[in-house]
Amino acid sequence: MRDINFLTETNAKPIWHPMAHPAEMRANPPKIIMKGQGVTVTDIDGRSVLDAVGGLWNVNLGYSCDPIKKAIADQLSALPYYSGFRGTSTGPSIELAYELSEWFEPEGMVRTFFTSGGSDSVETALRLARQYWKIRGQGDRTKFLALKKGYHGTHFGGASVNGNANFRRNYEPLLPGVFHIPAPWTFRNPFDETDPARLAKLCAKALEDEIAFQGGDTIAAFIMEPVLGAGGVIVPHEIFMPLVREICDHHEILLIADEVVTGFGRAGAWSGSRLSGVKPDFMTIAKAITSGYFPLGATLIGGKVAEVFEADKTSFGSIGHGYTYSGHPVGCAAGLAALAETKRLRLDENAAARGIELAAVLEGLKARHAIVGDVRYKGLMAALELVSDRATKKPADKKTMAVVSEAAYEAGVMLRVSGNNIILSPPLIISAADVVKIGEALDAGLSKV
Ligand code: PMP
Repeated sequence: MRDINFLTETNAKPIWHPMAHPAEMRANPPKIIMKGQGVTVTDIDGRSVLDAVGGLWNVNLGYSCDPIKKAIADQLSALPYYSGFRGTSTGPSIELAYELSEWFEPEGMVRTFFTSGGSDSVETALRLARQYWKIRGQGDRTKFLALKKGYHGTHFGGASVNGNANFRRNYEPLLPGVFHIPAPWTFRNPFDETDPARLAKLCAKALEDEIAFQGGDTIAAFIMEPVLGAGGVIVPHEIFMPLVREICDHHEILLIADEVVTGFGRAGAWSGSRLSGVKPDFMTIAKAITSGYFPLGATLIGGKVAEVFEADKTSFGSIGHGYTYSGHPVGCAAGLAALAETKRLRLDENAAARGIELAAVLEGLKARHAIVGDVRYKGLMAALELVSDRATKKPADKKTMAVVSEAAYEAGVMLRVSGNNIILSPPLIISAADVVKIGEALDAGLSKV
């Protein structure tokens, strides 16, 4: 590897970074992360900080999980790659698919389609949803419904169901036949409703209205994150997802739960759907499936959908969709080890327990700092929404956000800024002391502005 000076000097010049302006990145190059240990990462200048971002909502087991590293090394020496296209398969992919259907049995998931990440998983679910209706002889059911503020990755299908203008506008026109309803977001919503349960009902009503307007028999599926992540950790009231399930059932619309962030314990339960006892028709997972050690994702398929595909006698049933890395044996070996560790350490329980402590810390910060307009949390996913004025809820500007996050970094904690939100998604192995440290660094950051 070239020396440190080369890396610092070259940094963003040859790379276009995701979700960033190339010129801005050249002018203000990113931190170069060199090492990870436990819940800590170390940058090129040798500064170690607690990673309150958990990589990108994915490194649930932290950076020192030896069983995953060993599983990857062993699989690399046994078989670094073979495809899962028709005619061949691999041991780890069979084993992991089997494990996933056991793990997500309460959600009614019975089959796995492997992908390379979250965007692929969403794309797969959208495509299989349309195919399901073609098999059932209802080819008019092509439309998708989604929540405003939802995030579903960046492929054209995912971007089309995405509910954030930032990720849509520059890439339009997107898929036709996609419609959005308001998210149950108490801090900002078109109904000016602050009561979470009443708001959940209003948003469910908006879904019903949209279905009536579109015609239920033209809609293939509704997609939602059980807890909205990238849109700013919007936590629907627990009645919302069951209401959505009921409405979807009434109109026979498929329900896709995008669990790319909420899968495997992040929100304090093994899935976001499980939090409210909902059985979706598809679940998309990725990220923590390997704790970020290898790119891997999956679309899980519920019993009703599986039956239709498997009993198909039409010309529509063959799956004309897949990725070179669908079921990558190294990824699946990493996944098996990550899931075993996740289960052994009961990371769902730690996320719930540490999440309660984190919530208290965040409420304290909101009480002390006027710039904190709202705090939202579920398990170990949380957001602080910063505003320049609490009365008008005017979002804090970019400079303010940067000052807060830089000061927190100086105080030893890595934060993520997304718009006017500070997003927290630390590894699920964090301790009570780590939660205190995150709170102190946030306090230091917020005190600067
Ligand atoms: N869905 C959700 C809910 C996500 O949060 C993300 C990524 N943050 C994706 C899909 C896309 O995943 P990926 O970045 O792995 O393609």
